[in-house]
Amino acid sequence: LKILLTNDDGIYAPGLAALYHEFKSLGEVQVVAPDVEQSAVGHAITLMTPLRVKEVCLDGGLTGFAVSGFPADCVKIAMAELLPSPPDLVISGINLGPNVGINVLYSGTVSAATEAAILGVKGMAFSLDSYDQNADFGAAARLAREVMEQVRGWGAWNNGVCLNVNLPDLPRAEVKGVRVTRQDTGPLVEHFERRVDPRRHIYYWLAEINPRPALDPDTDYGALAQGYVSVTPIHHDLTDYHSLSDLQTLKWE
Ligand code: MN
Repeated sequence: LKILLTNDDGIYAPGLAALYHEFKSLGEVQVVAPDVEQSAVGHAITLMTPLRVKEVCLDGGLTGFAVSGFPADCVKIAMAELLPSPPDLVISGINLGPNVGINVLYSGTVSAATEAAILGVKGMAFSLDSYDQNADFGAAARLAREVMEQVRGWGAWNNGVCLNVNLPDLPRAEVKGVRVTRQDTGPLVEHFERRVDPRRHIYYWLAEINPRPALDPDTDYGALAQGYVSVTPIHHDLTDYHSLSDLQTLKWE
């Protein structure tokens, strides 16, 4: 099994190292990841500056390519230039923080998996429901592997679908199970914090406030809040199929 491992928290992130150590016994794991954190860059790619690639050695025998770009860049350049042969699977994560609901659109973690699907490779994104820098990524990586082994043989990988997996930050015995979910579409509750810097210039920082209650267990947001692993199939086709026939009845002369 050939795995390309990437993320959006940067090549030095503990969530990536945890996946590397958990998955390396399954086959050949190649790491190509951003050289610095690139969270919330969505599906951005680099066009106006060159991409620099540096081979780095990390703790525990982990080696990889650090790329001066975004997660989607990493997947593209890995497949086109850096890997000797195409991977069987692209794994992105484990992100520090969940990627559910509208945040899927902003997520660099998910976009790496989407990019894999666009290029015809199985893609999985893993995110942990915690913002604690000392979160137990080892436990999360074991859970990620369990999920991966369950879906590995799934037949419908080929149609541009990737899987967005969110992991609860719970001991294994307290994880309630796996739910296949749809993406929540409720609005984010957020605001800009207005602050003043030491030179008395005003600046703003986007912050989330009062997250909505997560009531619907069929959504990624709801399932995760209730202690389930959430698995959402994602597609990059943004067409709204419900509107197609509606619009076709309009007269365009
Ligand atoms: Mn991130």
